[in-house]
Amino acid sequence: MSRYVFDFSDGNKDLKELLGGKGANLAEMTRMGLPVPPGFTITTDACREYLHTGALPAGLLREVEDHLRLIEARLGKRFGDLHDPLLLSVRSGGPFSMPGMMETILDLGLNDTTVRALAARTGDERFAWDSYRRLIQMFGRTVYGVPDESFEAAPGSDLDAAALRDLVAAHQKVFAAHTGRDFPQSPHEQLYAAITAVFQSWNADRAVLYRRQERIPHDLGTAVNVQAMVFGNRGPGSGSGVAFTRDPATGRRGAYGDYLPNAQGEDVVAGIRNTMALADLARIDPASHVKLLSIMEKLEQRFRDLCDIEFTIEDGELWMLQTRVGKRTPAAAFVIAAQLVDEGTITLDEALGRVTGDQLAHLMFPGFDLGAAPKPLTTGVAASPGAASGTIVFDSAAAAAATGPVILVRHETNPDDLPGMIAAEGILTSRGGKTSHAAVVARGMGRTCVCGADEAVVDPVAGTLTVGSTVLRAGDVISIDGTTGRVYAGAVPVQPSPVVRFFEGELTSLGNPLLAAVQRLITHAGHVARLGVHANADTAADARRARLFGAGGIGLCRTEHMFLGPRRELVEHLILADSDEEREAALAQLLPLQRDDFTDLLREMDGLPVTIRLLDPPLHEFLPSLEELTARVATERDRLLLAAVRRMHEQNPMLGLRGVRLGLVVPGLFAMQVRAVAEAAAARAATGGDPRPEIMVPLVGTVQELDVVRAEALEILSRVEGAPPIPIGTMIEVPRAALTAGDIAHAADFFSFGTNDLTQMTWGFSRDDVEGAFFGRYLDLGIFAVSPFESLDVTGVGELVRTAVERGRATRPGLPTGVCGEHGGDPASIRFFHDVGLDYVSCSPFRIPVARLEAGRAAVTRTADSSR
Ligand code: ADP
Ligand code: MG
Ligand code: MG
Repeated sequence: MSRYVFDFSDGNKDLKELLGGKGANLAEMTRMGLPVPPGFTITTDACREYLHTGALPAGLLREVEDHLRLIEARLGKRFGDLHDPLLLSVRSGGPFSMPGMMETILDLGLNDTTVRALAARTGDERFAWDSYRRLIQMFGRTVYGVPDESFEAAPGSDLDAAALRDLVAAHQKVFAAHTGRDFPQSPHEQLYAAITAVFQSWNADRAVLYRRQERIPHDLGTAVNVQAMVFGNRGPGSGSGVAFTRDPATGRRGAYGDYLPNAQGEDVVAGIRNTMALADLARIDPASHVKLLSIMEKLEQRFRDLCDIEFTIEDGELWMLQTRVGKRTPAAAFVIAAQLVDEGTITLDEALGRVTGDQLAHLMFPGFDLGAAPKPLTTGVAASPGAASGTIVFDSAAAAAATGPVILVRHETNPDDLPGMIAAEGILTSRGGKTSHAAVVARGMGRTCVCGADEAVVDPVAGTLTVGSTVLRAGDVISIDGTTGRVYAGAVPVQPSPVVRFFEGELTSLGNPLLAAVQRLITHAGHVARLGVHANADTAADARRARLFGAGGIGLCRTEHMFLGPRRELVEHLILADSDEEREAALAQLLPLQRDDFTDLLREMDGLPVTIRLLDPPLHEFLPSLEELTARVATERDRLLLAAVRRMHEQNPMLGLRGVRLGLVVPGLFAMQVRAVAEAAAARAATGGDPRPEIMVPLVGTVQELDVVRAEALEILSRVEGAPPIPIGTMIEVPRAALTAGDIAHAADFFSFGTNDLTQMTWGFSRDDVEGAFFGRYLDLGIFAVSPFESLDVTGVGELVRTAVERGRATRPGLPTGVCGEHGGDPASIRFFHDVGLDYVSCSPFRIPVARLEAGRAAVTRTADSSR
C-alpha cells in the first residue's frame, strides 16, 4: 500500500496540505477528465521525514518505482528505454504557492544514448538535443548548485541540431568542472537526485526568507510531483502558455494570457523571448484555442474563482500542466467577487471572504497617475503604501529643515533619522526589507516608503543617488510609489483614489465596475456585521468625513487639541493660577470655547453617539518646553512659567500625572468639560437636534477614581437644564482596570478599550521610544510576527480585553463595550474584537470603510487562526 505517493488520479483539490497546491490541483484536473500528462505526487509527509532524518523514508523509492510503472503502462513507453524513452518532469509544490522559490527539473531521463533514441523516434534531432541541454543546465543548477551564468547563454530558436549537440558537450564540461563528476547517465539516479534536491530546496536560504516575509510556517515541507513530459518545443505546431480566466489586473471577464510557440514552459515566464497574446492562438491553432477556453470555463466552475493555468501544446495536442486560484490586484479582487455573485457562482457572504480590508485600504491610497508616469528608474520593496514626490535629501537634519516636500534617501535608517522621517513626504532606502527600520517606522507613521532598492547606489558624502547611468543629486525631484515599490526620477502627478472620491460623494458607481463592487460588498458587510464602526474624530471636519465614510458615531473625541493654539494662554493661566478666583476665571474663559467645539461636533453627528474623552495628556504638554523657556526667560511671567515647567517635569510622562489623575488633582478642570458637554447638548436639543454625547474618563485604574469623577459629573449634569441623559463611562487602558473591571463596571455606563496605552502598559514599553529602536530587530528575530501596535497582541493584551469584557458584563449585563485604540482599524484585530463580543470599533475616519468591511467579514467568514 502506498504511504508516500499518490497517483494524480487518487488525489483532489482539498488535499493541499498533503499533496501541495500544485499536486492537489493536478489531481483535481485529472479527476475532471482534463488532459493532464500522467504522474504522481510524493507527499509533504515524505519531505518532512526527509528533513527530519536526513534520509529518504524507507520504502519511498520502491513506491516511486511502482507508480512509475503505472505511468509507463499508460503511455506505452519506458523510463530510460533505449528506443522510445519516457521523459519526466520533477516539480516542487508546497501547500502555499511560493513563486520561483522552489525547483523544477524538466526532461529527466535523457542521457547520451536516450537523446539519440528520442531524436530517432520523433524524427527531430534539434528538439532532442535542445531538451538535453536544458536538462543538464536545470539539473546542474538544482541538484548541484551550478550557477546559470556558468552555462553558455541560452540560445533562441535559431540553433540547428549540430550547434545544440555542441552546446550539450559544452554544458557537460561545465557540469563536470563544477561538480567534479560527469553528468549522471542513469535515469533513475537522475530521478532520485532530483527528488532529494526538491526536498532540500525547502530549506534553501531564499525559500526560508520568502516564508518569513509571507508568514508561511517553516514546518510544512514541499510535495514533489513527478510527471510525464509533454513538449512545447517540438516545432511551430507546439508551444507553451500561461493564462488567467479573467484579467488579474482589472477583473475584466474573458481569458487573458501569453503564448510562446515552440517553447517549453519556463521560457514563457523567463521572458527570454517575446510572447504573443492568447488571442493570437485562435489564429495559429483554433482547435486548441477553443478547447482551452472551454477547459478554463470548467476550471472556474470547479474552483468557483479566477484561475490561472499553465498549458503546453505538443503537435496540436493541448495539455494542462497547472492550475490554481489566481493572484489578483486589489481592484480585481472586488470586481471579480461581485461578478461571481452576479453569475450565481458564489453568495454575497462568500464574496466577503474573497476581499480583505487590506485590499480596500490599498484602493484608498492616492496613487500616481500612471498614464503620466515615466519609466521607473528602479524598483524596491513596497514597504509602506502611498505615492510621494519631493526633492532628494540625504540626511535627517536636511529633511527636518526643508521647507518644501522632500524624500529622505538613505542606505538604511536608524532611530536618529526619526525627525527626518517625520518631516519627509516619503522615505527611500537602498537596503533592508519589509522589516527594516525604515519600513516598520514608516508603516507606523503612515509615511510612504520604498526600501531595499538595491540597484540604487546612495552616496550621502558625495550627495548622489545613482542608478545605472542616471545620477541624481540633493535637490533633484524624485517620486516613490510605496504601493508598487517603483521609483521615478522627477515629479509624477498624484491622483486621489477614485474609491475615496466615491465615498466622499464626488463620483458615482454608475458604469464603474470597481466602485459598484466596493459599494455592493461594503453594503452587504453592513447588513451582516455585528460590530458597529465609529470614528476617532476631534473636529467637525473629521466628523463630517467620518459620516460620509459610514461611521455610526464618534467613538473617541480627544479634547486636547481644544487646548492648543491661541487657547494655550488660557491653559497657562490655569496652571499659574495661585488663587481659586484666578483659576475659575481661566476655566470660565475656556468653557464657552469648549461648548462651541462640542456643539459643532454634535451637529455633524446628529442622532449618533459622540463619545467625548475628558482631558488626558499631562498639562505640561501645553506649556513651552524647558529648553525654550530657559533660552528666553525675560519677563516675570516667563520666570513663573519656567518654575511651573520645572515643577511639573516628569521622568515618564506616559506614567505620570495624566488622565483621571489630572481631573482629581486640578480642581474644576473636568467639571468645566462636563458642563461644556451638557450645555452643548442642551443647546442642540433646544434647536431640535438629537444630540447623543457620552462622557469618557481616561486612564482609570481603580473604581474609586471613577466614583469621585462620576459623582461630580452627575452633580453638574443634573444642574444643566434641557440636556439629554448623558452616559458616563471609562476607558480601559491600564491593566489594573481590566483586571478589576467587575468593580469598575459599577461606576461605568460603558467601557472603551484604549488599546494603545493598554499595549504599552502591558508590555512595559513606550511606543515612541521602542518602535524605531528595536522593533525591526524583534521582527527579524521572529519575536513579533507583527508590531503589537499595528495588530493587537491577542494572546497577551487580548486576554486583558477578554477578561474585562467578561467581568464588566458579569456586573452589568449588556454593558456596552468598544475599542478606540488604533487597533480598531486593523483587520486581524477587528476579527478578535468581534470574537470577544465588543459592540463597536472606533478608528480614524480614513480607516472606516476598511473597518466596516472587516466587521462584516468577521461575521460571515471562518475565524482566522490566531497564529499571527
Ligand atoms: P513553478 O512552480 O515555478 O511554476 P512548475 O513546476 O510549474 O514550476 O514548472 C515550471 C514550468 O515547467 C512550467 O511552466 C511548465 O510549463 C513546465 N513543465 C512542468 N512539468 C512539465 C511537463 N510534464 N511537461 C512539460 N512542461 C512541464
Ligand atoms: Mg508553474
Ligand atoms: Mg490612552
